[in-house]
Amino acid sequence: MTLHTIEWHTIPVNRTEEREWPRMNANYKMFVGGNWVEADGGKRFDSDNPFTGRSWASIPHGTTADVDAAVAAAKSALTTGDWPAMSASQRGALLRKLGDLIVEEADRLAEIETRDNGKLLNETSLQIRYTAQFYYYYGGMADKIEGAVIPVEKPNIHNYTRLEPIGVVAVITPWNSPLLIAAGKIGAALAAGCTVVVKPSEFTSASTLALAELFERAGFPKGVLNVISGFGHEIGDYFVGHPDVGCVAFTGGTSTGQRINEVAAKTFKKTVLELGGKSPNIIFEDADLDNAILGAVSGIFAASGQSCVAGSRLLVQRSIHDQVVERLVDFAKSIKLGDPMAPDTHMGPIATRPQYERVLSYFDIARSDGAECVVGGTPLDGDGQFVQPTIYTGVKNDMRIAQEEIFGPLLSIIPFDDDDHALSIANDTLYGLASGVWTQNMQRAFRFSHALQAGQVWVNMYRAASYMTPLGGYKRSGLGSENGKDHVYDYLHKKAVWMNYGEDAPQPFVQKL
Ligand code: NDP
Repeated sequence: MTLHTIEWHTIPVNRTEEREWPRMNANYKMFVGGNWVEADGGKRFDSDNPFTGRSWASIPHGTTADVDAAVAAAKSALTTGDWPAMSASQRGALLRKLGDLIVEEADRLAEIETRDNGKLLNETSLQIRYTAQFYYYYGGMADKIEGAVIPVEKPNIHNYTRLEPIGVVAVITPWNSPLLIAAGKIGAALAAGCTVVVKPSEFTSASTLALAELFERAGFPKGVLNVISGFGHEIGDYFVGHPDVGCVAFTGGTSTGQRINEVAAKTFKKTVLELGGKSPNIIFEDADLDNAILGAVSGIFAASGQSCVAGSRLLVQRSIHDQVVERLVDFAKSIKLGDPMAPDTHMGPIATRPQYERVLSYFDIARSDGAECVVGGTPLDGDGQFVQPTIYTGVKNDMRIAQEEIFGPLLSIIPFDDDDHALSIANDTLYGLASGVWTQNMQRAFRFSHALQAGQVWVNMYRAASYMTPLGGYKRSGLGSENGKDHVYDYLHKKAVWMNYGEDAPQPFVQKL
């Protein structure tokens, strides 16, 4: 029985020893203009480990003055000094060097992320190694960004396009996979010749602050990459609205994305937004059920459901509904919750206290919606931020648990009768990030792949990703897409140049058409 998940499983992990939680206690600094700095005013805040419930790191409490300093450093590095003087090939070489350093430091970075967000070390170790691939890929693209010569119909004109960096890119990331989510944005922006200011989530700033060290070691010129830390509700609007920011690349919740777009619109900034989802994972009666069950589990219980692409609505053909429910309930009961550092843990804690409380609130919502809970559905005893794998049946697609992104391990199972019924339920959502289809019927697989309104369709697999493949959302799941070759063009202006090598006198009052 094989589950086709992410290719990361082919990358070896060198973790040999168990580590003890209290070992680290780190005082991080922000990285601005190539200097390691405290926040303006010197304030700091604690970063808590969601497994132990204790603070494990201290983070500078950045202010709008720090935003100004970081954006000024990035603006200066864009037009003066070594970065704009470098050839595209040299920029690419730096990105590839960075990739090598990430591989070298992957164990340390993975441990930092697990401490901050409680994600399994098994997964963060693979994720961090995989982030290196983004920098190799975009490093390879840096010197393949080409304009065009356009054979305009006018005589004696040489007309061509240049692709120029869009400016300072503001990268804003969420807490669930900070370095993986930042990698495509930073890699593509730097390949394009831009400079970057990153603001990670207040809950998981440490890994991005630690990553900055590797930019320094790789030899990037000062100010090309800056990392500030702080609270989104305090500095977010100021950062996004900053007149010297040229583009905002964001992953996070849909309401934050909406806010960012409103603020960015006032200064006509481009935005690339990766937002939330309520993705349908559809099992047909002809599916390989062993794999489909594993795919359903990976869709909702991996990362404790804290995944933007979570397959949180499981649509099951009525003829196999009871069998699927029974098998999923058995599976859910076997899931081991615990220490995310331990190699045999399946699900770690919920990453943040507010998110934990939000997830728990859906137990009551599901009850008042009238859904039937077949496993889980109650808070666990103890202090930890653990939520047990929870499955609801009898779910109607208009219930809140089927329409709202929960970002936790709560699965809604919805029966369907035939293909048309499945498709109408699947697309009946405000979101459109991902989807899964489990069938052995090729015609159906293609039909659904084309008809599903979602940025990703996985057939007989779930939760796969690649730096080469675009990731973007339909409807309220986002704007634009990231990863893949095209993402570099999000960070480029297209300029047209007209060179006249004729000798005709210009017409002063009539446009040259
Ligand atoms: P949030 O939207 O709350 O926060 C995301 C980032 O935005 C954080 O760095 C946050 O800072 C910052 N932020 C908050 N307010 C503002 C503001 N006004 N202006 C600028 N930045 C701001 O998301 P979460 O961190 O809670 O992450 C969970 C959400 O992310 C889920 O909804 C999930 O679906 C989505 N997500 C989407 C993915 C995708 O690829 N589509 C991937 C992963 C997650 P701070 O933390 O300091 O508030």
